[in-house]
Amino acid sequence: MEHAGKHALVTGGGSGIGKGIALALAHAGAEVTITGRRADTLATAAALHPRLNALEMDVTDEASVREGIAAAAALRGPVRICVANAGIAEGGPFAQTTLADWRHMMATNLDGAFLTFQAALATLGDDDAARMIVVSSIAGVRGLKNAIPYTVTKHGVIGLIRGLSEEYMRRPITFNALCPGYVDTAIVRGQLPGLMRRFDVDEQGAIDIIAKGNRHRRLLQVDETTGAAMWLCSDAARSVNGQTIEISGGQV
Ligand code: NDP
Repeated sequence: MEHAGKHALVTGGGSGIGKGIALALAHAGAEVTITGRRADTLATAAALHPRLNALEMDVTDEASVREGIAAAAALRGPVRICVANAGIAEGGPFAQTTLADWRHMMATNLDGAFLTFQAALATLGDDDAARMIVVSSIAGVRGLKNAIPYTVTKHGVIGLIRGLSEEYMRRPITFNALCPGYVDTAIVRGQLPGLMRRFDVDEQGAIDIIAKGNRHRRLLQVDETTGAAMWLCSDAARSVNGQTIEISGGQV
C-alpha cells in the first residue's frame, strides 16, 4: 500500500495502458481518478476497484481539463501522481497528411499533456512531492515513417518532461516519460483489419507484422508498461527525473 492516501490521476485510464497503471495504483492504495471521453468505458473500468473513480474529460478541451482536474482535486486532494496517457495514433503518408489531421494529433497528444500537467501541478502545495509521467512512445526517440504527426507529438512530450524537470528542480517532483514499443491494446488492434486486407494475412499474420516493430518481435503486454510506471512512482525512483524509459524488447 505504498500509495495509500495519495490522489492519482490517469488520463485515458479507462482502457489499455492507462487502465493497467490506474488499477495497479488503486491496488497500491491510491485514490485514482481515471479520465476519458467515453462514460461507458470509464464506468466499466471503475467497476474493477473501489478506489477507481471515473471522470469524463476531453484532453483537447481546456475548460474540461482545468475544471475536471480541479474538481477531482477538491474531492480527493492534490494530484500526487499524474499520468498523462491519453492519446491517439493515426498514420498515413506525410504528403497526404492534412493540416486538420496534424492539428487533431497536436491537440490530443501534445496540448492534452500540457493541459493535464499544468492543471495537476496547480493542485499541489509548494512542498508536496509528486510524480508526473507522460506516456510517449518509441516514436518519441526515433522517427516512424507514415506517422509524422504522431512522431512529432511523442518527441514533443519528451521535451515537456525534460524542460519541466529543470524548471521544478527545487521541488520534490519528478517528470519522466515512458516510451513503449507496440503494446497489445485497442490502438494496435485497430490496425489489424487494414493490415489483414493489405497483406492478405490472418489476424495472427497482422499481429506478427506489427510485432516486427519491437526488437524482440512480440507485442508488449500492458503489465510491462504498468511495471515501469509503478517503479517511477516508487520512493526508490525519487532521483529519476527528466528521463525516458524505453520498453521495447531491445534498443530502439
Ligand atoms: P487506448 O486506445 O486503449 O487508450 C487511449 C486512451 O486515450 C483511451 O482511454 C481514450 O479514451 C483516451 N483518449 C483519446 N483521446 C482522448 C481525448 N481527446 N480526451 C480524453 N481522452 C482521450 O490505447 P493505448 O492504451 O495503447 O494508448 C495509451 C497511450 O499509449 C497513448 O498515448 C498512445 O499513444 C501510447 N502508446 C501506445 C502504444 C501501443 O502500441 N499501444 C505504444 C506507445 C505508446 P476515450 O476514447 O474514452 O476518450
